[in-house]
Amino acid sequence: MELIFATHNQNKFEEVVFLMPKHIKLLSLNMIDCFDEIEEIGTTLEENAQIKADFVTNNYGYNCFSDDTGLLVDALNGAPGVYTARYGGPEKDANINMNKLIQELGPSKNRDAHFKTSIALNVEGEKYLFNGIVNGTITQQKKGEKGFGYDPIFVPNGYNKTFAELPLTIKNKISHRGRAIQKLITFLNTI
Ligand code: IMP
Repeated sequence: MELIFATHNQNKFEEVVFLMPKHIKLLSLNMIDCFDEIEEIGTTLEENAQIKADFVTNNYGYNCFSDDTGLLVDALNGAPGVYTARYGGPEKDANINMNKLIQELGPSKNRDAHFKTSIALNVEGEKYLFNGIVNGTITQQKKGEKGFGYDPIFVPNGYNKTFAELPLTIKNKISHRGRAIQKLITFLNTI
């Protein structure tokens, strides 16, 4: 069965392609000549993931899944949430985003936060949703060089290092995206 992963991000695609069951032929947007920028206009991560998957299924006719990720900070009532990528401005710069978050949190004692990934899957006319969450805390300063995005200021619960200091093998096992992808793959193995 052919299945589209609705992403233009080659790294994300390659991370997932090796995990797919043998009966799934995974294709990226570029591989079906879809170069559209799909607008994320939903108010929740679930909605945004569904919008992207629906765009591909409705316009290109493929089975498809799409993911959307956000960082939700308790003391900021769940911000940046759906605005995680562009929290500090339209340039989507990781350092500007992290600086803004550290500033908004200020000296707050409550630094609890979680990353959440929602995956929307459209397959043979049915819709499915899978969520993955990792709980943790936001540090006062950036630490570590690995990873991307907010990794240098996020310490997952049960560890005393940021995602940017932990080996990628550990991050992939416990991360929001890793957990959501595992749920997707478990499901795909049953169909
Ligand atoms: P996307 O939905 O995967 O594009 O993620 C939206 C935004 O969330 C990204 O631009 C990053 O700022 C942030 N983000 C997503 N996943 C991670 C992660 O694993 N570590 C740190 N930041 C992340």
